[in-house]
Amino acid sequence: MTAHARYPHVFSPLKVGHTQVRNRILMGSMHTGLEDLPDAAERLSAYFVERARGGVGMIITGGIGPHPTVGHGAKLLGPGDVALHRQVTGAVHAADPEVKIVMQILHTGPLAGTPDCVAPSPVKSRIGRYQPNELDEAGIEEQIAAFANCAALAKQAGYDGVEIIGSAGYLISTFLVEKTNQRTDGWGGSWENRMRFPVEVVRRVRAAVGPDFILIFRISAMDMLQGGMAWDEVVSLAKALEAEGVDVISTHFCWHESFVPTIATMVPRAAFTQVTGRLRKELTIPLITSNRINMPDVAEAVLARGDADLVSMARPMLADPDLVNKAREGREDEINTCIGCNQACLDHTFTGRLTTCLVNARACRETELSYPPAASPKTIAVVGAGPAGLAFSTLAAQRGHRVTLFDAGAEIGGQFNLAKRIPGKEEFYETLRYFARIIELTGVDLRLGTRVNAGALATGGFDEVVIATGIEPRTPAIDGIDHPKVVRYLDVITGRAPVGQSVAIMGAGGIGFDVAELITHEGTSAALDVAVFAREWGIDFEGHPRGGVTGIEPQVASNDRAVTLLQRKATPVGQGLGKTTGWTHRLTLQRRGVKMVSGVEYRKIDDAGLHVVIGGEPVLLPVDTVIVCAGQDPARGLYDALAERGCPAHLIGGAHEAAELDAKRAIKQASELAAVI
Ligand code: FAD
Ligand code: NAP
Ligand code: SF4
Repeated sequence: MTAHARYPHVFSPLKVGHTQVRNRILMGSMHTGLEDLPDAAERLSAYFVERARGGVGMIITGGIGPHPTVGHGAKLLGPGDVALHRQVTGAVHAADPEVKIVMQILHTGPLAGTPDCVAPSPVKSRIGRYQPNELDEAGIEEQIAAFANCAALAKQAGYDGVEIIGSAGYLISTFLVEKTNQRTDGWGGSWENRMRFPVEVVRRVRAAVGPDFILIFRISAMDMLQGGMAWDEVVSLAKALEAEGVDVISTHFCWHESFVPTIATMVPRAAFTQVTGRLRKELTIPLITSNRINMPDVAEAVLARGDADLVSMARPMLADPDLVNKAREGREDEINTCIGCNQACLDHTFTGRLTTCLVNARACRETELSYPPAASPKTIAVVGAGPAGLAFSTLAAQRGHRVTLFDAGAEIGGQFNLAKRIPGKEEFYETLRYFARIIELTGVDLRLGTRVNAGALATGGFDEVVIATGIEPRTPAIDGIDHPKVVRYLDVITGRAPVGQSVAIMGAGGIGFDVAELITHEGTSAALDVAVFAREWGIDFEGHPRGGVTGIEPQVASNDRAVTLLQRKATPVGQGLGKTTGWTHRLTLQRRGVKMVSGVEYRKIDDAGLHVVIGGEPVLLPVDTVIVCAGQDPARGLYDALAERGCPAHLIGGAHEAAELDAKRAIKQASELAAVI
């Protein structure tokens, strides 16, 4: 079967407004931070060109502000700002004249990080820094004019269209919802008044750009927020926008302040597209759907069941810019899949760091990290096939080096083989599938079940040795640590150690949380079943109450195991987890009744349980199992033995530095070494 036959819907062109897109996959909008750099034009161009060449039908840029009240960040306010954008659109169109590049206009409204921020009413967002200034009539007119001006400038800059974001708790959406729009004039109160602002913005934008310019509006199809829009309001807004000349409606799900995860790895693939499908029945223009659509077969299924006309893939384009070409050429097993971790993209965005990707360290670093053919190929030994060793070996081999990769284990992946067993982390299998295929393609000589020693490496005729031997789990020196009720996380995750009904987990880092998730989990993983996911997060897809969530109590299945998660630090438990995902893990465990205790001193473990001191008071936790998740130390024995023989070696990943190690750092360090070795 040809690739086109496998993805007939994905690879059929679509009429969009006055023009046509070549396929149904578009790269969704992401703020990367490149927009704010001094060399933004060069870096954005390289970033988008790589994705255009990768085969997408349409690219939507990160959000660009139309008015100074959006505060910091990229803006397009006047003719002086056009040149940068012209450079980007010129580069993209030169690289591939068929690809469409559309600029997103983003007015952050009450979420702008400036005291000058504006909104229909002075209602501070739960996640906003400042109480917004209430817009008066003239202020509203000024904002509408700013949208129109920004769109006209985008056209001058060579974009094929604009997308106006009207969701997520940004300015436009705050007009739509009663909680944030408490006005009593013609812009608030009744639904007709609340939807007036977006309708007026679209009318004026269309008038400013004319008919031959793509106009996309991003609507919040489900706010995931108590008091959000009702379904009939969503439909009536979409119809009104269609009537005003919008070419495409893009559906978004959630406000940033909502308590429902919508893109984390624990969200099932394509969980929300059914809502787009329902809206599609009400309109005649094409609809875009999004969220956790990370592989071509998922996109094809969404399109085939009529949920949408176009599929937005944003983070998957960071993970693999060639995703669409690989699908078209039947090479989907070579796709480096986005695992939904948010660790290097959204967590970076929301902490002011440049966006990149855990599985692809080159993302957003296209001008500074490349893997050119090696001038003089070397013979390289790599020890350890965890994320660090895998990334290094495959990239070095792609450059032409002859790589032999040793691992003591029976399969590649190192600790990712533990991570993939945690309910909600099933996507980690994809990374291992990707590396296995690239090993085959690049001819890396993989030697599994091979624990190498320094002698073999020193005499093996290698030009370079790379040590990626990972970590050793830490065993804290506590009285009774050898007691039979004490088990290692490794043995719990692999199912080798039995776990009792009452459990204390020593250490509340990422692994402590994952172990708590595993041992309290019951039934199907929510990440694999949309109905289970909806129940766990209180979403009512069928009834679609206001905001999609009102009145639905989350029901988290759990076994009746009593678990206490402990740490010595006095800070709140789970504070160090990912910025955009940590709250989901904390909330899930709390709903399963897991107790979280910080500021603990461990005293001893005996037949009675775990003896600790909390707030100066001795406390006995009468548990039958103590699971040690107390961090790790580098596994450097092999490196040290080589050093003793006078053989130099490179150290990467956990073997280099175990403290605060994650796969993001392991892969980045490995990629940077592979680029220069
Ligand atoms: P490792 O993955 O530890 O791999 C080292 C490899 O070296 C192993 O395969 C081992 O068999 C091999 N080896 C060691 N000595 C020898 C020898 N002498 N000869 C041959 N082979 C040898 N990170 C994240 O970023 N996000 C997450 O969500 C996440 N979740 C996790 C969940 C769990 C349950 C666990 C355990 C870890 C998780 N991590 C996560 C951490 C991540 O897996 C590690 O940071 C990463 O695996 C480190 O990569 P590495 O290549 O340095 O080492
Ligand atoms: P970690 O995050 O460093 O946590 C280690 C825990 O052990 C901490 O709670 C620490 O807290 C405790 N600890 C440290 N030394 C101890 C000692 N001597 N005695 C008792 N307790 C001790 O490490 P991890 O949980 O092992 O995870 C390893 C890496 O994998 C992490 O860096 C993490 O980024 C990554 N990971 C990420 C995720 C994710 O979802 N992003 C998931 C899993 C793992 P106190 O010192 O306060 O007690
Ligand atoms: Fe996807 Fe994680 Fe990469 Fe973000 S960092 S693009 S979520 S794999």
